[in-house]
Amino acid sequence: MIIASNFKTNHNRKSTKEFVDFISLQHFFSEVRIFPPSTALDDFDLTPNIRVGAQNFYPVQNGSFTGEIGFDQLEEFGIDTVLVGHSERRHILGETQKDISKKYDFAKAKECEIVYCVGEPKEVREEGIEAVMSYIWRQFDDIDVDYSELVVAYEPVWAIGTGLSASLEDIKEVLGLLRQKIKAPLLYGGSVKVETIKDILGIENCDGVLVGTASWDMKNFAKMIEISDQL
Ligand code: PEP
Repeated sequence: MIIASNFKTNHNRKSTKEFVDFISLQHFFSEVRIFPPSTALDDFDLTPNIRVGAQNFYPVQNGSFTGEIGFDQLEEFGIDTVLVGHSERRHILGETQKDISKKYDFAKAKECEIVYCVGEPKEVREEGIEAVMSYIWRQFDDIDVDYSELVVAYEPVWAIGTGLSASLEDIKEVLGLLRQKIKAPLLYGGSVKVETIKDILGIENCDGVLVGTASWDMKNFAKMIEISDQL
């Protein structure tokens, strides 16, 4: 199982170090991913099942892209796991599928693990599963789904940061349809909590979760990993 925490725009350098050190000291078995803000990336003392990754990057090694970070900056800290296609970058920061596929290809050329996020907005969910899947498949345009370091996170936009998780049946249906074409591990994300993680991890084809809000408290995140370890 992969249990991932997306800090988004939360935590600073000091609290990220406390968080990462606390999680590392627990000696969990599950695969753990932690995505802090880029200013908090550092050389952490990690056990092999824990990786700290980047929430975002500009698809260059280095150059003149004011305000962006490239791979020179990530490689300084040995970062080899990245998030690509998160709904907040698609819908709030305006990343197009073309921007996203460029980032994907760059990270792939760097042989990074890519946690690639897809998911439909509320109005599409209301049209039913066919509309949902056709929306999601378009988010795979120009994406190599056979890449060996790919992890896919199904994150319905309406469930992210809202406290409203998708139903177990809806998650099962989408993951089952994704599994017909994608061999990579499949995660669910969208308001996962300590109280709901066990049932979500029990869904067929679910290989883990990507958690935002409920993971920002290190004790909560540790509880979630502990539940995963017990399955
Ligand atoms: C996310 O940011 O990927 C996410 C799933 O957030 P939340 O858990 O807050 O819905």
